[in-house]
Amino acid sequence: MLRPPSPALLDSLASLLGPRGFSREAEAMEPWLGDWRGRYRGRAAALLSPATAAEVQAIVGRCAEAMVALVPQGGNTSMVGGATPDVEGGALLVSLRRMNSVRSVSAEDNVAVAEAGAILSDLHEAAAAAGRRFPLSLGAKGSATVGGLVSTNAGGTQVLRFGPMRSLVLGLEAVLPDGSLFEGLSALRKDNRGYDLKQLLIGAEGTLGIVTAASLKLVAAPGSHSVAWVGLGSPAAALALLRRLEARLGEAVESFELVPEDALALVLAGIPGTRPPLAASHRWHVLVESVAPESGRDAVDALQEALAEALGEGLAQDAVVAASEAQAAALWRLRESIAEAERVQGPSVKHDVSVPVSAMPAFIEQARAAVETRFDGARVVAFGHLGDGNVHFNVQPPAGATAEAWLAEQAGAVTRLVHDLVGEAGGSISAEHGIGQSKLAELARTADPTRLAALRAIKSALDPAGIMNPGKLLPSV
Ligand SMILES: Cc1cc2nc3c(=O)[nH]c(=O)nc-3n(C[C@H](O)[C@H](O)[C@H](O)COP(=O)(O)OP(=O)(O)OC[C@H]3O[C@@H](n4cnc5c(N)ncnc54)[C@H](O)[C@@H]3O)c2cc1C
Repeated sequence: MLRPPSPALLDSLASLLGPRGFSREAEAMEPWLGDWRGRYRGRAAALLSPATAAEVQAIVGRCAEAMVALVPQGGNTSMVGGATPDVEGGALLVSLRRMNSVRSVSAEDNVAVAEAGAILSDLHEAAAAAGRRFPLSLGAKGSATVGGLVSTNAGGTQVLRFGPMRSLVLGLEAVLPDGSLFEGLSALRKDNRGYDLKQLLIGAEGTLGIVTAASLKLVAAPGSHSVAWVGLGSPAAALALLRRLEARLGEAVESFELVPEDALALVLAGIPGTRPPLAASHRWHVLVESVAPESGRDAVDALQEALAEALGEGLAQDAVVAASEAQAAALWRLRESIAEAERVQGPSVKHDVSVPVSAMPAFIEQARAAVETRFDGARVVAFGHLGDGNVHFNVQPPAGATAEAWLAEQAGAVTRLVHDLVGEAGGSISAEHGIGQSKLAELARTADPTRLAALRAIKSALDPAGIMNPGKLLPSV
């Protein structure tokens, strides 16, 4: 049974962490008590901001003894309310943001060691300064932290070639729920000493401990890269184009992002300074990025030639290849602003689903038709990582409807319909965002009982008192 922190525990944490690391002031806590999407707002007894792994250990050890809940938080960009405490107010929010250094970058080992609070874009810069690259990126890169990325097993726009965080974490340092330190940072490429604790912590959403640092895989920086925007007629055409480009360019294709006409329209309307990438309108678009090992025009020339062939064969309707870094950044901005443009537009029913890649084009068309038939006027915006079989299948209320009222009435039924179709296609109701609190009910409804029982057994073995991020990831029994 969890308890609120006693005044004595709060005093002891205040003196452990000092004024920079401990706050109970409403103003200091306020920005961190709600989620990025504005869906959840919780309360916390205090905001703890440790500066070292030893401080995290002391916090967890004392809270384990006192049976006090802890909610780890990094950049607070979770799409599923994973880092937002509940409304009871008895939990302590543990921010890792002060532990933000990239401790080392080794070009020789192709490894970076970063603290949990290091921001993804800072890691990108540190790797680039050593002529290397950390090959994972996403729209929230200016805020998302290494600890959050590890704990959500984040995906993003380069999974096609490099896989999600799970493929990129070589070692972890983490404080387990009893306050002990798991010192697993050594970046061994081979290590067969039984169960892989590091892999258990990846994607655990803070329910099995607090990640304090990670050893991360780096790859060689490309000599040149090329970004193109392509207009085409359907998701099936997009998948055919991807396979065509792969046949032509092989591993050089790193990103392949599907953007429907309506998502592009949202960005152009809601994000200042954005411009249509192509002269005419197209029902579907993709953003492609490819690389070449040599500097110069290699990547641009190769992608241009491959796209010219695809246009000639009728696989695509129009395409533009960025002629400068500024143009490439502008094309990426169109893709990476979709989530923000949706937020500007207002609330919608969001799904982050995956199905086998070959099933994705049909899934998008069928699920769209099913939603639009059953929910009169509802508008589907399905975009994302086609090459990974992962789309963000979001449903907006009908134009003219009061969004909150429509969502209160229909969101549950919309989600059940979409997730049932995902299940029929052999897919997952959470591709890359995790379960957090927003998908608990659907996980309980759709999960294989054997799998759920094993997850619960792992949780109770490592965190018998349930102090780590309660109410997230695991539906209550
Ligand atoms: C605009 C935008 C675009 C996005 N695009 C993508 C995308 O393409 N792909 C994708 O996968 N995600 C995406 N996301 C979601 C989000 O950025 C990722 O889930 C990211 O990994 C969260 O990192 P964070 O540091 O903000 O973690 P937070 O939001 O702070 O926390 C996320 C979860 O991890 C836990 N946690 C955080 N730090 C630690 C730690 N040190 N130890 C243990 N647990 C911890 C929290 O308790 C919570 O459960 C996007 C979000 C936004 C806002």
